[in-house]
Amino acid sequence: MSTSENWEVCVYCNERLATQREHVIPRSIFFPPRPSNLITVPSCQPCNSDKQRYDDFLRDFLSIDDFTNQHAGSLNLFLGPTGRAIDRNRSRLAKKVLEEGIVVEVRSPDGELLDWRYALEIEPCDLEPFFRYVAKGLSFDQYGIRLPKDAVIDVSHVPPEPFTAIIKGMAESGGAKGPVRLGGDTCVFMSLLVHEYHAVWAISFFLDRWFAIGVSHPDGDHASDQLLLDRNSDAQKHTPHIE
Ligand SMILES: [Zn+2]
Repeated sequence: MSTSENWEVCVYCNERLATQREHVIPRSIFFPPRPSNLITVPSCQPCNSDKQRYDDFLRDFLSIDDFTNQHAGSLNLFLGPTGRAIDRNRSRLAKKVLEEGIVVEVRSPDGELLDWRYALEIEPCDLEPFFRYVAKGLSFDQYGIRLPKDAVIDVSHVPPEPFTAIIKGMAESGGAKGPVRLGGDTCVFMSLLVHEYHAVWAISFFLDRWFAIGVSHPDGDHASDQLLLDRNSDAQKHTPHIE
C-alpha cells in the first residue's frame, strides 16, 4: 500500500481515520512567532489527545531540566505555559517532582546554605511514550514509512560528547538525512535509515538536551543501530537530573 492511499489513516495508531494534522514536535515548545516548518502528520483525535499529555510533559521537562534551563527558550517556557500549568495544578511533571522528588540543599561555593529545592531524576522511560509518537511521526514525514504498532523503539539520553559522535557517525555513513532545524536551535534532528523499520534518530532540544532513538522491526536485528550507539562507550543510558 502506498503512503498516499493511506493518507487518511492516523499515523500513530494505523487504525482510526485521521481527523486532523498533529504537530510531531509539539508546537508549545516554540515561542511565537512560531516557525513555519513545524512538522504535522495525519492523526485521529484519541491519539492526538493522548500525545498531548506527553507533549506537555516534555515542555515542562525542558523548562526545568538542569541541562536546558539556562536557555532563553527554556526560560520562556517556564515563565509562560509551564508556569501556567503549574499554577493550575495541571503539570504532571511538577506533581511528580513534588510527590517523588527529594529536597536538596543549595549551597554557595564556600558551603553557605542558600536554599532548598526539590530535585527528581527523570528516567528515559518517563519520556519514552513521547518519543514513540515522535518516531512514528517523523518516520512518516521524512520517509513516508508507517511504523507498525509493535515496532521496537529504544530511547536514550545522550550526553554531549557521544551525541556529537553519533551525529558524526551518521554523517560519515553517507545516508543520513538532516540536520533539520525547527525554530533555530529549539529542536534539531537528524536521522539514518538503514532500511524500512530500522533507523536511528538523534534529536536535541535547545542544543542542550540530546536523545537517541533506535527504531527496529520486531523481527529484525538491532545490530546496526547498536553499532552507532556503541561507537562511543559513553553513549549509555544517562539519567539526567532536574531541579
Ligand atoms: Zn490514531
